[in-house]
Amino acid sequence: MTRFVVLGSGSKGNALAIEHGGETLLVDVGFSAREIRRRADAAAVPLDRVAGIALTHEHGDHASGAALLARDLGVPIFCSPGTWERLRIRIGNARHAPLSMTAVVEAGPFRIESAEISHDAAEPLALAISTAQASIGVAYDLGRPTAAVRYLLRGRTALVLEANHDDVLLRTSGYPPVVQQRIAGAGGHLSNRVAAELLADLVHPELAVVVLAHLSERCNTAQHARDAVAPALAAAGFTGALHVARQSEPTGPFTLMRADTQASLSLG
Ligand SMILES: [Zn+2]
Ligand SMILES: [Zn+2]
Repeated sequence: MTRFVVLGSGSKGNALAIEHGGETLLVDVGFSAREIRRRADAAAVPLDRVAGIALTHEHGDHASGAALLARDLGVPIFCSPGTWERLRIRIGNARHAPLSMTAVVEAGPFRIESAEISHDAAEPLALAISTAQASIGVAYDLGRPTAAVRYLLRGRTALVLEANHDDVLLRTSGYPPVVQQRIAGAGGHLSNRVAAELLADLVHPELAVVVLAHLSERCNTAQHARDAVAPALAAAGFTGALHVARQSEPTGPFTLMRADTQASLSLG
């Protein structure tokens, strides 16, 4: 059985925990180490056997607590060489395990694959983490869903995908036009509409859980995100569960298992 919990998601911090076989992998640590511990505790996520911390990119809402937590836990930080270049000044003696866009990197029972994304960071990545039971695609801060990202996210059992803003709420947000352009541009963030199109394209029979994440506080609501995405998923034949991740508290846990295991469990 594989379980994951979104510890929190939004422009004030992102973190996710995946558990398998008694080990935990953290994906992004955009809260203080103390806040990560508090949220993990609240969501009953064990931090005594952490295989590593995987980071999508160096922005504070994804990496602010990574240095301290990696040192406290004595675990490596898995990220792209470009992200590490930016982080190493702050991170001091933490261990770096480079992620590769051409090879699978192993961390305990977790296998990490990655694809480069279009975002205004050094070398940002979308990630896919697989265990013997499930695989979870994680993509935030997507300026555009490139072919590489579509390919990485295909065939996963769960997807945690950015649904950052509603187009109308962004236009009426009061942000200056230049900021609006940056948010909606290739280096920015995915709208609900584009997230819905991408998700509809990624539906397949084993896709069990979709979590919409990294919602803008000012230009989105959980209801807007859900209303944009749910009909597109339904039209594509999605029969799994759709959730919207919260900023202030954990969302989940979500339990995943292979279809053949599920069948044998329900038969037994
Ligand atoms: Zn970012
Ligand atoms: Zn972000």
